[in-house]
Formats: sequence, C-alpha cells, structure tokens
Amino acid sequence: MIEVLGKLQGSGQAEILFHGRPVEICRKPRLRRLNLKVSPPGNIRVSTNLTLQLSQILKFLTRSESWILEKLKLFSETNETFLPKQFKPGELFLLRGNLYPLELVLTRSGQFDFALGKKHFWVGVPESIPQGEGFRRLVAKNFLPWFREQAIAAIKGSVGRWSQAMGLEAKSIGFRSQSTRWGSCSGAGHLSFNWKLWAAPPHCLDYVVVHELAHLKFLHHQPRFWHLVDQHFPEHRTARRWLKDHQNDFYFLDEIKQSLNDKKSDC
Ligand SMILES: [Zn+2]
Repeated sequence: MIEVLGKLQGSGQAEILFHGRPVEICRKPRLRRLNLKVSPPGNIRVSTNLTLQLSQILKFLTRSESWILEKLKLFSETNETFLPKQFKPGELFLLRGNLYPLELVLTRSGQFDFALGKKHFWVGVPESIPQGEGFRRLVAKNFLPWFREQAIAAIKGSVGRWSQAMGLEAKSIGFRSQSTRWGSCSGAGHLSFNWKLWAAPPHCLDYVVVHELAHLKFLHHQPRFWHLVDQHFPEHRTARRWLKDHQNDFYFLDEIKQSLNDKKSDC
C-alpha cells in the first residue's frame, strides 16, 4: 500500500508512505537513474535527480513493492543482527571478524576501558555508573571512539606495510564511516577508509587497503587493475566474498552511531 500525503504535482511537497513508513526522497542534480535503498531497521530511501516527477517515483515504488516488503521483513525479524546492542554481559560483538561475548568489569578508575581478549570483549565500566537508564548510552559513547581509534591504528599499519610491498604511496589518508563503501581513492591520490572495517577479519581490511592502493596506479576496475590486486593479494576473492556476505553484520556500528547523534539525513 503506497499513499501520498499532499500534492502529487508541483514542488515536491508530498510525502510518500510505503505501508505506513515514510519514504525519504533524496534529490541530487546529476543522478540519471532512480536508486532505491532499504536499510535496517526499516528505512526506505529513493535517490533521483531534481526533475523526475513524483508520479514516476510512485510507479517505481509500486513495481518494487514485493522486493521492498521482503527487505523490510528481513530487518524486522527477531534477527539479532538488527537488535541494538545493550552492552550487556554475554552479548556478542563482531570485532576483527569474530564474535566475542562481552564481559563486563566494574572498575574503580572512574574511566571506561575496552579491550579485546582472546575469547572476550572486555568492557570496564566505572562502578559509580548506575546500571539503569542512560547506562547503554554512556558505554556506547565511550565505545565508539575506542573502536575508531583501534580501526585507525590497524588501517594505518596496513597501509604502511602494503605501501612498501606495492611501492605505492598515498598523498594522504582519511577515515570515514560510510554505510556502503569500504574505501575510496581520489584522482589526487587521497585515500579514504571506512573505520567500520575493524569489525571485519584482518585479511579483509588488508584487501581493502591493497584495493585502494592499487587505485593509485589505475583509477578504474579494468583487468589491469585486478591484475595488480591479484599480484599482491591473491586471496582477494575470499575477502570480497566475506565483506559482501557479512555486510549486515556491521549494522551494530551504524546503530550505535545513530543512537548517539540525533539522526541526520545525509543524502
Ligand atoms: Zn575500487
């Protein structure tokens, strides 16, 4: 069931509801096609250019109805992947490609502490912090900078090693947490990496680094580019497969981030 609230024609004031959920419409000048994205826990976003009529968007949504419903069903299932992390003992966290149960330790230091052990993800919480409401937010607020710091150190280390091995050096490197891209390389030789990669196995992180470094030589995905990647990282197919198969498993990081910021739309 697709409903339109407001005027269908004209300045795009209308709001589209898909089975009761608002559809975010994102207009960018240079888009040729319509892009549809359904992301957890149930966000629907259509990206298109500045001129496409709302009626066309509605037609598109109608055509895609069963696909969208299927996605929404996947996200709404009591699937642990999409449940917000509470930072409770025993809760599983994906870090460096493995699921680690959280072990909570009360500390007297007055500081939050995080560490990845052999079998556990240790979270040290000042004993003065009440366990009730606000506990999750406080831990999450401290967890994210720690995670980011680990990720940046791991990515920088990997870039250093692979730069040397491949004889390619970036002008600079930056870190972001895009939801869909693991890395990027600009024409000017600036590399950017997704710090969520620290949740992935180290070989996947290395693969992304090799991939972006290879772009310093070939700014495309033609056979010459893949040949270079293959030369240095022959297991790139397994790494790509892992990242693809586990893309939803990184959702907990987005969820934590979103729960801390007031959700901003960045279309
Ligand atoms: Zn690429």
